[in-house]
Amino acid sequence: MTDRTGPAPQGPAPLGSEPKRAPVESQSAGSEQPQETQSPWTPDRARYRELIDDQPAYRLDQIWHGLYQQDTPPTELSNLPKALRARLGNSLQPALELTATQNSSDGRTIKWLWTLPDGSRVETVLMHYKDRSTVCVSSQAGCAMGCGFCATGQSGYERNLSVGEILEQVVAARRAAAPRRLSNVVFMGMGEPFANYDRLIESLHRIIADFGIGARNLTVSTVGLVPQMLRFAEEGLQVGLALSLHAANDDLRTELVPINARNPIDDLVAACQLYRERTGRRVSLEWAMIDGVNDRPSDAAELAAVARRARAHVNLIPLNPTPGWPTVGTPRARIDEFVNDLRNRGVNATVRANRGTDIDAACGQLAAPDTAGSTATEVTLSARSHHR
Ligand code: SAH
Ligand code: SF4
Repeated sequence: MTDRTGPAPQGPAPLGSEPKRAPVESQSAGSEQPQETQSPWTPDRARYRELIDDQPAYRLDQIWHGLYQQDTPPTELSNLPKALRARLGNSLQPALELTATQNSSDGRTIKWLWTLPDGSRVETVLMHYKDRSTVCVSSQAGCAMGCGFCATGQSGYERNLSVGEILEQVVAARRAAAPRRLSNVVFMGMGEPFANYDRLIESLHRIIADFGIGARNLTVSTVGLVPQMLRFAEEGLQVGLALSLHAANDDLRTELVPINARNPIDDLVAACQLYRERTGRRVSLEWAMIDGVNDRPSDAAELAAVARRARAHVNLIPLNPTPGWPTVGTPRARIDEFVNDLRNRGVNATVRANRGTDIDAACGQLAAPDTAGSTATEVTLSARSHHR
């Protein structure tokens, strides 16, 4: 985004920095039907053209520039006539209301807690690295997959996020990252992206086309829903795919990841092979190292066999603590032994750097808590807050 021409973004996550959803009565003032509001990032370009078909053609370019170069909704674009801004604001309002912001002690990780129009809550994490800035987005409020070691799984399922709710997380991260460029988007936040398949696909297309982030800089992480993995291989997208494996035999995997009962390891391996054939991209197998559970030499041997068959890369994640799971993560020295064991067996394996554990922003720790119970290093409360 070298061609940012708009006003400097104000503050780290301004989308929801003030209450902006008018009561339903005033939204529908002047019309018989109450209007359903959508995110300003929900309509695509063709839909915006329809919405402003009474306006001169250059207005569409102004709106588009605002949305995708300045990360600003039409209601805040001072180059649009007031009446047009008001009209669009009636039906298009940002969905994410900022409820809390937490910064890691080293300042390189930021986590936001958002409240959605229906009161459900999701989290988004922005991580700065030397050479890139990555946002980890949520695809659902909660998750129905019930993996016991994951804070999101422990909190249960609420609903799928809309395309606008997903894209607004990217917008917030772009604004907060500036002047750095947001380079990567990973679907590794709350929820199972493949359980919200159609919206995931539309979001990916929009991130590539409208935000200009290349498919190779996007990653979808799945618990391993085989039918969707097979479909995803045929989408013609060169997006990275991560499979959360965690166990390489069906008995143990079904214990850790209950959905494995319907998506067994042989089928997952076949899906990884197909993904590689169709996209040219190697799947990455995610493996949270759990002390005494999946970190023994026999686990390394089983994992190596699966990784070789799937022609996949292995990414070891030190297990992060969550409130509802008693078993601790593998100590670092044994993680190093495990990764060496895998490499000796001919597998390409890395250990993922742990980011954001001090603010519960690391893998598996997103649970969208009530802010009342937060131990934030810095918490910013918006004017309106929900407590479930
Ligand atoms: N539902 C998707 C994406 C979100 S989870 C999935 O499961 O892949 C993102 C990653 O965090 C997954 O690889 C998941 O297995 C992992 N994870 C969950 N709980 C964790 C924990 N407590 N410690 C480390 N990683 C965890
Ligand atoms: Fe859902 Fe992924 Fe957590 Fe499992 S690990 S409960 S699939 S978010």
